[in-house]
Amino acid sequence: TFEVIFAGRSNVGKSTLLNKLTGQNVRVGKRPGVTLKPIHLYFGDFLITDMPGFGFMSGVTKEKAEDVKDNIVNYIEDHADRIKIAVQVIDGPAFLEIVERWDARDEIPIDLELHSFLLEMNILPVVAVNKMDKVKEDDMDGMLDQIVEKFGYEGPWKECGLLVAPVAARDGQIRPLTSALKNEFHKMKRDDLF
Ligand code: GDP
Repeated sequence: TFEVIFAGRSNVGKSTLLNKLTGQNVRVGKRPGVTLKPIHLYFGDFLITDMPGFGFMSGVTKEKAEDVKDNIVNYIEDHADRIKIAVQVIDGPAFLEIVERWDARDEIPIDLELHSFLLEMNILPVVAVNKMDKVKEDDMDGMLDQIVEKFGYEGPWKECGLLVAPVAARDGQIRPLTSALKNEFHKMKRDDLF
């Protein structure tokens, strides 16, 4: 099995992105925190796994949010041999502010923690920066440079070595992500998708 997982905070647009990518109906606007377990989709030969959305939101207890995080980590550990790529979906316009809020509390944002963990597990992370329709064209590069810096890379984002795909899932603008995935599948000799 060749598995690709999708992970991100609640409300980043992960379901919307998966719908556009696979043409399958992943429920959009799920109440945050309701789904604890990963959801599997089959897409060609690929197993695509939609991880539960993480993060603290109203209506979700701190305990439940911790459970979600633990479930994600356990799932990745248990299936690290077959998970080849992890698409980390972030809400571009909201990301930097969220990271700064966590920094101010001396805590590591879950997205960044997950990123390090994926690297440790030898899983290739691809960061899908969603909701780019909200960002002015002139501000895009600067914002993406700051985002990769938070992930621990030196910019510019296009050359930092982290695969970054700016997308606007709701508008169906996901080409940078499909291209990045296609390219990686090709390198992994799995070019039978997209
Ligand atoms: P999930 O919780 O990560 O699965 O997020 P959803 O797919 O349910 O989307 C959360 C909200 O973000 C919904 O209101 C979507 O319409 C909205 N959304 C998703 N993608 C985009 C996007 O590319 N741009 C904008 N502006 N909103 C989006």
